[in-house]
Amino acid sequence: MSEPLLEVNGLTTWFPIRRGVWSRTVGHIQALTEVDLVIREGETVALVGESGCGKTTLGRTIVGLECPRAGAMRWRGQPLPGGIRPPALQRQIQMIFQDPAASLNPRLTVLDLLTEALAVHGLLERSREETALQLLADVGMDSSALHRYPFEFSGGQRQRISVARALALKPALIVCDEAVSALDVSVQAQVLNLLMELKEKYRLAYLFISHDINVVRFIADRVAVMYLGRIVEEGPVETVLTAPAHPYTQALISAVPVPGVERRARQILRGELPSPSRPPEGCAFHPRCPRAMDACRLVRPPFRRPLDREQKVSCHLYS
Ligand code: SF4
Repeated sequence: MSEPLLEVNGLTTWFPIRRGVWSRTVGHIQALTEVDLVIREGETVALVGESGCGKTTLGRTIVGLECPRAGAMRWRGQPLPGGIRPPALQRQIQMIFQDPAASLNPRLTVLDLLTEALAVHGLLERSREETALQLLADVGMDSSALHRYPFEFSGGQRQRISVARALALKPALIVCDEAVSALDVSVQAQVLNLLMELKEKYRLAYLFISHDINVVRFIADRVAVMYLGRIVEEGPVETVLTAPAHPYTQALISAVPVPGVERRARQILRGELPSPSRPPEGCAFHPRCPRAMDACRLVRPPFRRPLDREQKVSCHLYS
C-alpha cells in the first residue's frame, strides 16, 4: 500500500448564521464534524452523499479555500495549514470545479489561463506557448485552442481546459468537485477516461466528489459516504457498493440501477435531511433510519471497522 499523501483528522468546520442590521450571530451551520480521511499516492477516493451534506466544504478545506475550526491535516506526514499556505504546498493540491464556464476567467485566452499560475509562481521552464501546447496535448486538444476564449468552446472542451489548468502546477492531488455532473453522458465518459489516463501518467491522486454512484463505481478505488457533515462509511469501492453496511449507504445504493445487476428492493428514506444548524443528538441519521434503536437517539456511534467487514462504519448495529 502506498504512503499517505493527505491525512485528515477530526476536521470540524462551522459557519456563523448572521441576522439583522448589525449582522448578529444567531447560530451556526455545522458543515463538517470530526471528519477523518486518508488519501494515498495515486489513489482515487470518492466522496458521496446528498446535496448539502458537506462534501464541497471538505474539498474546499483540503484545497485551502476554507479554514477549519478544529482538527488537523497532514501532507506527506508534515502539518498542512488550513487557509493560506506556502506556495510550494499550495501547488500540490489543485481543484476542478463543477462549472468550467464560471471557473475560467472569460477575459483570458487559453494561453493565459494555462500559464498564468506558472508565471505567478515563477515556474515557467519553457516559453508560454510551448508550455500551454504541452498541457493542451495532455488533455487531447491542439494548438487551435491557444488564442481562443472559454466561451468559444463546448462544455466538455471547457472542462478539458480546466483539467489542463489544474495540471499546470504539477499537483499530486486534485479535488474534482462534481467535475462531470454538468456534462452530457457521452462527454462525461470522455472526461472520466481522460482523468484515468492522467492519473496513470502523472501518478495523480483524486478526491472525487460526486452524487453519481455509477460514476464513482467507474473511477474510484475507495469511497467515503457523508451524512450531515460526518463520514458514516468508508472502504474499498466494490465492498461499499456491493455490501453497504450503514443503513444510509444501503438506501443511497438501493436507488441506483446498475447494468447487469439485479435491482435491490428500493429503500425510501423518511423525511428530509435535518438542518445542519440543529443536527440531531446521538446518531445524526436516527430520525430517518429504519433500524434506529433507543441507543441511537442518545449516543453517537463510533467510526470503526467491524471485525467481519472491510469498511469502516459509524453505526450501533456493528458496535
Ligand atoms: Fe440507524 Fe442507529 Fe445505525 Fe444510526 S446508529 S444508522 S440510527 S441503526
